[in-house]
Amino acid sequence: MSMPDAMPLPGVGEELKQAKEIEDAEKYSFMATVTKAPKKQIQFADDMQEFTKFPTKTGRRSLSRSISQSSTDSYSSAASYTDSSDDEVSPREKQQTNSKGSSNFCVKNIKQAEFGRREIEIAEQDMSALISLRKRAQGEKPLAGAKIVGCTHITAQTAVLIETLCALGAQCRWSACNIYSTQNEVAAALAEAGVAVFAWKGESEDDFWWCIDRCVSTDGWQPNMILDDGGDLTHWVYKKYPNVFKKIRGIVEESVTGVHRLYQLSKAGKLCVPAMNVNDSVTKQKFDNLYCCRESILDGLKRTTDVMFGGKQVVVCGYGEVGKGCCAALKALGAIVYITEIDPICALQACMDGFRVVKLNEVIRQVDVVITCTGNKNVVTREHLDRMKNSCIVCNMGHSNTEIDVTSLRTPELTWERVRSQVDHVIWPDGKRVVLLAEGRLLNLSCSTVPTFVLSITATTQALALIELYNAPEGRYKQDVYLLPKKMDEYVASLHLPSFDAHLTELTDDQAKYLGLNKNGPFKPNYYRY
Ligand code: NAD
Repeated sequence: MSMPDAMPLPGVGEELKQAKEIEDAEKYSFMATVTKAPKKQIQFADDMQEFTKFPTKTGRRSLSRSISQSSTDSYSSAASYTDSSDDEVSPREKQQTNSKGSSNFCVKNIKQAEFGRREIEIAEQDMSALISLRKRAQGEKPLAGAKIVGCTHITAQTAVLIETLCALGAQCRWSACNIYSTQNEVAAALAEAGVAVFAWKGESEDDFWWCIDRCVSTDGWQPNMILDDGGDLTHWVYKKYPNVFKKIRGIVEESVTGVHRLYQLSKAGKLCVPAMNVNDSVTKQKFDNLYCCRESILDGLKRTTDVMFGGKQVVVCGYGEVGKGCCAALKALGAIVYITEIDPICALQACMDGFRVVKLNEVIRQVDVVITCTGNKNVVTREHLDRMKNSCIVCNMGHSNTEIDVTSLRTPELTWERVRSQVDHVIWPDGKRVVLLAEGRLLNLSCSTVPTFVLSITATTQALALIELYNAPEGRYKQDVYLLPKKMDEYVASLHLPSFDAHLTELTDDQAKYLGLNKNGPFKPNYYRY
């Protein structure tokens, strides 16, 4: 694949070195500061009580609420490729070394490294932007001296990110943000390559915090950057190692949950380092939410139910980014799609896209499939579930498992039958069955895989956010939560264009002047909605 004839790399090239960028940034309002927070005593606004208890093997219950939603949602039914379920010995009890004699890791089985390496190589095929970033920035090593402690899903795709960070000069120690999502073979491959990785599929909650702790606390190594997904790592450092923040140059956070926690800290005046909100970058939101769901909704439904969509009546609750993606895919296969919305703008968009906007009550008796994607709670209630027809499929694409009132189905008169992995039949006394998928958790992350290409976009955004925070001159970022500068968002997109052999049109000098733009971007103001 040819290298992109794209824009120069912002953040590590000429432009980053110009101290005036912060001035430009303010001029264009690229960086959305949330609050101006004075440095105060470190404390988390929420969950404080839970973190007064250090986890012990017997103390799991006390921690159960403190693991974020993202860390307890199962991630992918394809999370592990080889079956090592017969090996019941905890990785913590094992003595393992890689081929170079290092034992600076804790994974399920280091012998699976070769298999994991092949998985990473497959992922690299569809993550050419990161590979291209490696090539473009390798000479400069923009992360030389960076000591990154990371807590993300450990999959083949994140391995490509981690190895990119290493190629750019960083040292990395990594744990998993989800107790189920680690691909053991990939963790083994990373450990074999020399990354200090502490993660395996099926960790207990005690293991989860132990792994995070092993990443942060080690002799002779102190992190100076945090890459988090869900906020648990950040939370742990705040609680256990507040002094570490003296050296931390910044936090990069991916998830809605983690970003929410950072904003809470910021509002309370307790955020003591700059943080980058990657979740709200355009390249993350538009692609992860819209296109990822467009690609994976049908996969999740087909793998679990073998349903045919042509002519089926489907109601999608919520016509935001996720809803739009789901509806586009369903419509393309000939399903008859209804929408429910609370927001007149999204409702009007649905109308213009050719969908009927209804109240759930109006269609609940007739639909074959119900999909929630609102990010809200109790959108599908027990009353709705009672009124559904036999064999109606019910599932959720939103972040949390509260959109469908699954708890209301755990009553004595209803029988639950597990018919397949992640598929339950809930049976009413008259014999009616409702097909509940993934117990109301995220369907695509629980029952299918998500496209590597989308993860590449998010991973590239994370890498650039780390580069930017690590290289930013003193004073560019304060103790606040920032969005990735628009120019970097555009750069992430430009790195992905060569995969499609897409050719950008360049502004002429005259056109640039007419529009009041720099020829190299940013091309849109911060308030532009895409
Ligand atoms: P969004 O805010 O763009 O859309 C949600 C929509 O739901 C909004 O238009 C809102 O008006 C509507 N809504 C809220 N309450 C409603 C109700 N009671 N009835 C009907 N409509 C209602 O958000 P989004 O980006 O589409 O994300 C939605 C959810 O999906 C979030 O929880 C997000 O974290 C999650 N998400 C999932 C995936 C995935 O891969 N499954 C990817 C990204 C985001």
